[in-house]
Amino acid sequence: MMFDAVVIGAGFGGIATALTLAERGAKVALCETLSYPGGCASTFTRDGYRFESGATLISGLDEAQLFGGWIKRHNIGVQLQWMDPLLTLQAAGVTLDIHRRREDLLEQFCALPNAPVSELRHFFAVQRRVARVLWQLFDHPARLPPVKLAQLPGHLWRLPGYAGLLPYIGRSMGAILQRFGLADFAPLRIYLDALCQITVQCSAEVAEAPLAFAAMDYYYRGSAHVVGGVGQLAQGLLDAAQRCGADIQLSTRVKQLVRRPDNTWQITTRRGTLEAKHVVANLHPGVLPALLGPSYREPTRLTRMQQRLAQGYSAAMLYLVVRAPDDASADAHHLEFIADPNKPLIDGNHIFVSISSAAETDRAPAGHRTLTISTHLPLATLQAAGTDIAAYTATVQQTMRDTLRAGAPQWANNIVHELTASARTFGRFVGRPGGAVGGAPRTAGLHNYQNMGLVQAEPRLWLVGDSVFPGQSALAAAISGVRVATAIERLQ
Ligand SMILES: Cc1cc2nc3c(=O)[nH]c(=O)nc-3n(C[C@H](O)[C@H](O)[C@H](O)COP(=O)(O)OP(=O)(O)OC[C@H]3O[C@@H](n4cnc5c(N)ncnc54)[C@H](O)[C@@H]3O)c2cc1C
Repeated sequence: MMFDAVVIGAGFGGIATALTLAERGAKVALCETLSYPGGCASTFTRDGYRFESGATLISGLDEAQLFGGWIKRHNIGVQLQWMDPLLTLQAAGVTLDIHRRREDLLEQFCALPNAPVSELRHFFAVQRRVARVLWQLFDHPARLPPVKLAQLPGHLWRLPGYAGLLPYIGRSMGAILQRFGLADFAPLRIYLDALCQITVQCSAEVAEAPLAFAAMDYYYRGSAHVVGGVGQLAQGLLDAAQRCGADIQLSTRVKQLVRRPDNTWQITTRRGTLEAKHVVANLHPGVLPALLGPSYREPTRLTRMQQRLAQGYSAAMLYLVVRAPDDASADAHHLEFIADPNKPLIDGNHIFVSISSAAETDRAPAGHRTLTISTHLPLATLQAAGTDIAAYTATVQQTMRDTLRAGAPQWANNIVHELTASARTFGRFVGRPGGAVGGAPRTAGLHNYQNMGLVQAEPRLWLVGDSVFPGQSALAAAISGVRVATAIERLQ
């Protein structure tokens, strides 16, 4: 059978592509090398416990948003827990609870000693306006640039909103904070640094301002805990794609891609051969030479993209099973700790801790919880000549334990089981070269708006996922999938 598209990889980018194409009646197959979907946003079982491998706090779950819309339309049986607070951040004597009511955060800042209240109110008002314009685009990926002539009427009434972006495009958040008189207000800096590190993958000082503004809305855009782990959502979406007619092939690694003279593709997997008009690779571009062989000539655009990706990160992980402290909330919750806010938020100095709920006894026995804890590892350090990667990773993981013990001794002192993961794990399990996760740091510059997720390595060989789309989240990866599926549909 000639498929309209074969998707390689069941990360959220690949799943979204396959589901969107299948919903619209295309003949689509999806091949995933692992026996379960979700990639960096999956749930795995080890030693009888179920852990979230990377992503834990998922956005876009409101009914009007991408995941929420799919859950409703396809009657996907995932259970969501709308935690409040969503997250507690602790650093240098500052504790911030991120509640569902967005005004609450501003009020917390304003109530801090010596807070520049009117500057804060002005900054948050502008943030909201800029973020709203960007999210209106991300919510409707077909509207993203480049804009086709036929789409122009739909954009005209939004032009005043777009004009509001202009003072911020290509500027760093550090420069914007200066302009608003907030550069020296440490609690906001710390909050923004932590937020930017986990979303746009760099400090607030250097982050592209409009993307950082959009990231500031992340917690308020349908963010929730998926009961049972985020893998339940990945599986539910994959099942929906299958019900729409997609051919889902798990435990099926794609080994080779050959472009035939008629511009169709032959896809060799460990189970056989498929044919397709389009291939959608939910992959890091660094794996393409191995799939395409010596005839592949990497486009300059992709070479530049890889240079930016190389400035990014891998992750070190601790997966813990902990006897729940007596006063622990029964809900799933997220804690973020920064040991020293004056140092980069990497290498265990900054950890993101996600704790399963008491009700998830399929993940850990009653009275126990699973914890997924992550920190950023710079790829530059991992790749530097002379780095002893095993020793470096072990040191970082010890720092993560120390940061946890300092911030949450009640959890650190009751560990009954521990697993670790490293750059090598991400390289081996989800096929990311050097363990690169989370995409390129979105530092200030116009390059952030080139292509906006419409990237072809060769004609009809598309890339989706966090390597090619800004936002570094399961939602952003999925938006990129919808965007590419829409482009493919238009070409049919
Ligand atoms: C530690 C960590 C914490 C994070 N926290 C959050 C969070 O809280 N919230 C959030 O939204 N995001 C979070 N993220 C980011 C989010 O997980 C990713 O941006 C997103 O999941 C990436 O999805 P993707 O589709 O781009 O790629 P991936 O998830 O990497 O998916 C690619 C898939 O392709 C498969 N594959 C690879 N090679 C082949 C092949 N040859 N043949 C077949 N299949 C193949 C892989 O097995 C994988 O399943 C986190 C990421 C990390 C690493």
